[in-house]
Amino acid sequence: MSTILTGDRPTGPLHLGHYVGSLKQRVKLQSDNEQFIIIADQQALTDNATNPGKVRANITEVALDYLAVGIDPTKSTIFIQSLVPELSELMMYYLNLVTVARLQRNPTVKDEIKQRGFTDSLPAGFLVYPVSQAADITAFKADLVPVGEDQVPVIEQTIEIVRRFNTVYHTEVLVEPKALLSKVSRLPGTDGQGKMSKSVGNVISLKDSADEIRNKVKNMYTDPGHLRVEDPGKVEGNPVFAYLDAFDPDEQGLAELKEQYQAGGLGDTKVKERLVEILLAELDPIRKRREAAAQDMAAVNQMLQDGTVKARAVAGATLTQVRAAMQLDYF
Ligand code: ATP
Ligand code: MG
Repeated sequence: MSTILTGDRPTGPLHLGHYVGSLKQRVKLQSDNEQFIIIADQQALTDNATNPGKVRANITEVALDYLAVGIDPTKSTIFIQSLVPELSELMMYYLNLVTVARLQRNPTVKDEIKQRGFTDSLPAGFLVYPVSQAADITAFKADLVPVGEDQVPVIEQTIEIVRRFNTVYHTEVLVEPKALLSKVSRLPGTDGQGKMSKSVGNVISLKDSADEIRNKVKNMYTDPGHLRVEDPGKVEGNPVFAYLDAFDPDEQGLAELKEQYQAGGLGDTKVKERLVEILLAELDPIRKRREAAAQDMAAVNQMLQDGTVKARAVAGATLTQVRAAMQLDYF
């Protein structure tokens, strides 16, 4: 049995990337493991400080997405980061064990700084978000962290912090986590430019209506060189095929479709129609479960409160051990 910490930033409703990258694994793992799921509102504020309304509104969006995909609050503990202040205290101690240079070298942080156009305007909190994530993971002594590929460098940084903490304070209190990647650990965005990201807006959300899905797929980037139906098309770098790879249950049929596309004679419209059909079949039941859960928001809020109480107790116990290891247990 593993202890799992995983979660999402409440910066928008969850999308297909989350579904294949992490959510499906969480549903599978929740029965036989101790799973904590963090709605990381403090981390969301590191690049949304002036937009607290957005973060607040998306806490419930994310919670509803969890219920929609089958995360069961009797098996998984779902909680809100800012309501567990023990995490911030842990982070404060860890900040002294990492260098600014190391954070600046973190490839994910580097990419995200570029993508957000932060130059002189980089918030200090954003630069140190991997340390906050280290606090989240270690507070629960998580040994397994299901994440997308973009978060692997952040987990590596957590491992470094754990090692350094345990060495410096002569303890074994902190546990080294392992990243758990799914088969599709980096789903591209509908623009084909980078990974699907809430903050970029190149997403198909789990809550999108059938019409929105149809429209988004229709406007998706494909192979810019594939101008006429009879032209040969490229499958690599073509997000329509990346989505088919992730969602099409008919492997043989998909292999044939790819061959036909590469040979020429298969139009984008046909391929997109197939994708729409597959996505609708997958997302219809999810959307229905989401709508049902949204009927009782009081229950959703209660679930978050209960999860937070439980999470706080666990994080508090770790913090007591951390403080003792650091000789901060004064009285
Ligand atoms: P933001 O743009 O605000 O950072 P996001 O879309 O990147 O939002 P996060 O909340 O940062 O989503 O990520 C939550 C989890 O989902 C992480 O484990 C992350 O690795 C994973 N994830 C995010 N996007 C993808 C994707 N396109 N493919 C696979 N996994 C993803
Ligand atoms: Mg992200």
